[in-house]
Amino acid sequence: MRAYNFSAGPSTLPLEVLKEAQRDFLDFAGTGMSVTEISHRNKAFEAVVNEGEALLRELMNIPDEYAVIFVQGGASTQFAAVPLNLMHTGKADYVVTGNFAKKAWQEGKIYGDAACVASSEDKTYTYIPDVSKIAFREDADYVHICSNNTIFGTRYTQFPQCKAPLVADMSSEILSREVDVSKFGVIYAGAQKNLAPAGVTIVIARRSLIGQPLAVCPTMLKWSVQDENKSLYNTPPCFSIYMATLVLRRLKKLGGVAEMNKINEYKAGLLYDFIDNSSFYTNKVEAQYRSIMNVPFVTPSAELDGKFVKEAAANGLVSLKGHRLVGGMRASIYNAMPVEGVQALIAFMKKFEKENA
Ligand SMILES: *Cc1c(COP(=O)(O)O)cnc(C)c1O
Repeated sequence: MRAYNFSAGPSTLPLEVLKEAQRDFLDFAGTGMSVTEISHRNKAFEAVVNEGEALLRELMNIPDEYAVIFVQGGASTQFAAVPLNLMHTGKADYVVTGNFAKKAWQEGKIYGDAACVASSEDKTYTYIPDVSKIAFREDADYVHICSNNTIFGTRYTQFPQCKAPLVADMSSEILSREVDVSKFGVIYAGAQKNLAPAGVTIVIARRSLIGQPLAVCPTMLKWSVQDENKSLYNTPPCFSIYMATLVLRRLKKLGGVAEMNKINEYKAGLLYDFIDNSSFYTNKVEAQYRSIMNVPFVTPSAELDGKFVKEAAANGLVSLKGHRLVGGMRASIYNAMPVEGVQALIAFMKKFEKENA
């Protein structure tokens, strides 16, 4: 039986996509080879990269003046690539709303004056600072945010309006809700949360910003080089890009990001409503900032949390253990998590409450 997998990442992928990949695995596009065996310069593979890029542009309504590239190294490598491509005057502002946002800030400090201009660490990252009250520096090269905080289960509902280009780590929510790309200088996302297997990272960057990387920027991290080479400067993560393209095709067929967002709001609503109406389970995030992708919750005790995770797994609901920084449970309900998975989780939560309250 296929489990309902609530892992934060790598995470569940659409069953249809997995089956399609399995069906075509030994003979990709009539080549007589699998997609993991052919040259990345093969026309059939180039077509996959081009289709993936075109689908991303269409689904996210990305303006032509933006580069869309597929790179390696995960979102964590982009923590360095951001300053290396953008920190021209050596100054950048960071909003620290969680563990990854903090890591990005710390990486920024290696290259210059990276300032934490707002943080929600005072309340263990259970909210997003009011962006209208943040004193961004006028002369910063960019402002960095993490739009959805995977570990703490928060998300921005309003993005900062700052003079400097806005850079957003959208790893755990890309393609889950509509965003106006033109309001951002750069958006990046590791694919293994909401899009594809681990190995590929998406970077969407306004081309006018990326022409002058710092002199010390490694060639591989230069977004302009990746853009000029259409993501084929060196061997890309071929299989992950192929899988991303299949997922994007499916998303288009389902009606695109707006339609996916409706389903995501519905799924998250079911879970939050259930938690809020229960005196047994608690989610500590301020309601207006609750993520629709990652839902942390606790029972009345750490001991019951442990029991919950174990019994849920025995019932086919797996990877519910919360991050070590938060404890308790976390249900990651990305695009690929079906409504039925969330319903099954709630049914189990009811049963567990009855038996343990
Ligand atoms: C998972 C995650 C990362 C780290 O991604 P890697 O690809 O493992 O480097 C960074 N930012 C956010 C928001 C994440 O969810």
